[in-house]
Amino acid sequence: MFIAEVLIFAPIDRPLRYSIPEELRFVIFPGSLVHVFVGKAQRIGLVTGVREVGGEHFSYALKPILRTIYDAPITHEILIQLYFWMAKYYICDLFSVIDAAIPQVIRKNIPLKLVTYFRLASPLEVIIDAKKLPKQWEALEFLKGNPFLLKSEFLKKFSRNIADVFLRKNIVYEVFQREERVAYTNPGLINPEFRSVQLTGEQWRVVESVGESLRQKIFGVHLLHGVTGSGKTEVYIELIRRVLAEGGSVLYLLPELALTAQVVEKIRSRLEGFRVWVWHSGLSDGERRDTWLAALNNGSMVVVGARSAVFLPLNNLRLVIVDEEHESAYKQGENPRYHGRDVAIYRAKLHQATCLLGSATPSMESFFNTKFKHYKLETLPQRIDQRPLPLVHVVDMRYEPGANGVLSRLLLRKMEERLEKKEQVILFLNRRGYATTVLCRGCDFIALCPHCSLPLTFHRTISRLICHFCSHQEPPHSRCPKCGSSEIFYNGVGIQRVEQMVQKIFPDAPMARIDSDVMGKKHEFIHILNRFRRGELAVLVGTQMIAKGLDFPNVTLVGLINADGSLNQQDFRANEKTFQLLVQVAGRSGRGEAGGEVVLQTHIPVNETIFLAKNNNFDEFITKEFELRQCLGYPPFRHIINCNISGSDARVAEEFAKEAFGKPLGLLFSEGAAGVEIRGPIISPVEKIQDRFRYSVLIFTPSVSKICEKIYNFRSKIPIPAGVTLSIDVDAFDFL
Ligand code: ADP
Ligand code: ZN
Ligand code: ZN
Repeated sequence: MFIAEVLIFAPIDRPLRYSIPEELRFVIFPGSLVHVFVGKAQRIGLVTGVREVGGEHFSYALKPILRTIYDAPITHEILIQLYFWMAKYYICDLFSVIDAAIPQVIRKNIPLKLVTYFRLASPLEVIIDAKKLPKQWEALEFLKGNPFLLKSEFLKKFSRNIADVFLRKNIVYEVFQREERVAYTNPGLINPEFRSVQLTGEQWRVVESVGESLRQKIFGVHLLHGVTGSGKTEVYIELIRRVLAEGGSVLYLLPELALTAQVVEKIRSRLEGFRVWVWHSGLSDGERRDTWLAALNNGSMVVVGARSAVFLPLNNLRLVIVDEEHESAYKQGENPRYHGRDVAIYRAKLHQATCLLGSATPSMESFFNTKFKHYKLETLPQRIDQRPLPLVHVVDMRYEPGANGVLSRLLLRKMEERLEKKEQVILFLNRRGYATTVLCRGCDFIALCPHCSLPLTFHRTISRLICHFCSHQEPPHSRCPKCGSSEIFYNGVGIQRVEQMVQKIFPDAPMARIDSDVMGKKHEFIHILNRFRRGELAVLVGTQMIAKGLDFPNVTLVGLINADGSLNQQDFRANEKTFQLLVQVAGRSGRGEAGGEVVLQTHIPVNETIFLAKNNNFDEFITKEFELRQCLGYPPFRHIINCNISGSDARVAEEFAKEAFGKPLGLLFSEGAAGVEIRGPIISPVEKIQDRFRYSVLIFTPSVSKICEKIYNFRSKIPIPAGVTLSIDVDAFDFL
């Protein structure tokens, strides 16, 4: 008898066994989706394995698989291996992995979208009298000129009645065809002018080096460290072209959905004759389904996508590109808390494919691996055409009087100069809203979120106070709720205030703001970028959404309103994140023929990270930071597993964190587990979010794979009190 291991789409953490009925024997494979009974409920499951067993092994009768959803598998065995690896490495349930990896729409099998065509019969045996039936005659003549056309097109010109008559008389036949929905085909979305380019010698060197790995067909990782504007994208495109020409597939990951449209258009315009598919969370169900099925059905294709594209069942995967590999957006904030880059690398390994990571500011982890593991470092140290990197001016904001506390005199002067020359300016501040704290002058009142231990941010455009953690909203105070004073004071600068100030000072400069509040409106982001590209806007202000990847040749000035923002965070990556952000933002300037400048405003001009970022001195930054991290035993020298405990009752949560979790965990690793260190529990930096009190226990370990099963088993045994949740974050990025 044949049995199948089936993973159910429900919180059950291991595959269940079912028997395969005779009539389904040749349609069930690993990767098939099936209907089965779990208890009395019918469920959908994914077959992860099929094998033959002697019937005597089973003293109890296995339930049979009821039916399949498709007549072929919807994912590959390699991906099933990937799911198991992820569940193990990220210490999470298999269910959460397949739930993230296999889209809802694939599980449902909604019908394909079919479009109807009219095909003119041939030979045509009917004659229509032009005098008696002039309309029908006209329709027939039209069809003779268009013997195969969309029925909907026909109906735009002629009545449904004529269509019915033609069908009845067999003048036309209906033909149904599948329509594949490819996202971003609307050419009006983003319209950069693309010249074709000749790769430079440096670019060729990288292409050849990665190309060599592709030829060998064994797993290898290359890290491309290319300064901003060095032409990394062109290197990717050349490699994609090679892989497609040889019948392979390429996965091209980007951290941010917003950037996808620009890159997709660029690649499409370069790779004529190849179809470029996209994948991100904004797709419609239909687009998602069609892309998934296209991946299954095509021997060779290229997909540009965000994190979850890493799960697409591509055939013959030869190359995986992870652009802006340092970006924290690759890390998923909820279960399964995987890092898209790391999963991509593991996937490339399973396929014996080549993985290419790219960045102007590589992560410490990846750079570490070029030194201590087998990653190969590739560099593009120059901008295209030897264009200089922008000149960076550092302004000490402690000496800027009054209103210039936001926009320094130097920045204003430079803006004036550049706008005069009809060049463009980007101002960057990583804070949404208008004012970041709302205080009373009469007493010590600060407007705090009632559910989180955090100040509320004032949003001027909608006139509301908003909590950026839980989205709580309330109207602004006209009087202090504590002392009744009417002297309410808006402190701390958000991007909306910058926008307002610039509008006042440069009333004639057309400008727009980009942040996640604007981005909510569909296509607004792309629309603004398009206007900026066409030169209809002179100034763009924005948060980190505009920090990276954008390529606007006419931008010659970038202002960083507050370079210190991320330095104060309680995060061991604060230096690294600041360095990356400053270099990336500065990299938006001077990408075209006219050179560029950057004005970097700070209250701590002597800070080393700021100094090294100003000089784009990656090597020195990374050397210093390595020393520090090694000293402290932080990543990349060890991994950190962050165990978050939260509960609505602070005492219960704390008690659990200490006694039921922290202590036994410490004991578990006290004997013989070299290098594993447990810290905490500590109160999390943000003590309370959404009325839940938060604690955290950190596990420092030289290797995750050696201890993850132990932690998994430990967690499944400890009783968790009602109202308390425990979430485990392997290789955590977020320590708030
Ligand atoms: P990066 O991704 O490294 O920041 P891009 O790939 O966006 O850089 O390239 C920067 C700019 O240089 C783009 O406008 C691109 O079209 C142009 N470019 C890249 N390679 C070449 C080349 N070989 N010749 C001319 N222009 C190039
Ligand atoms: Zn008050
Ligand atoms: Zn809140």
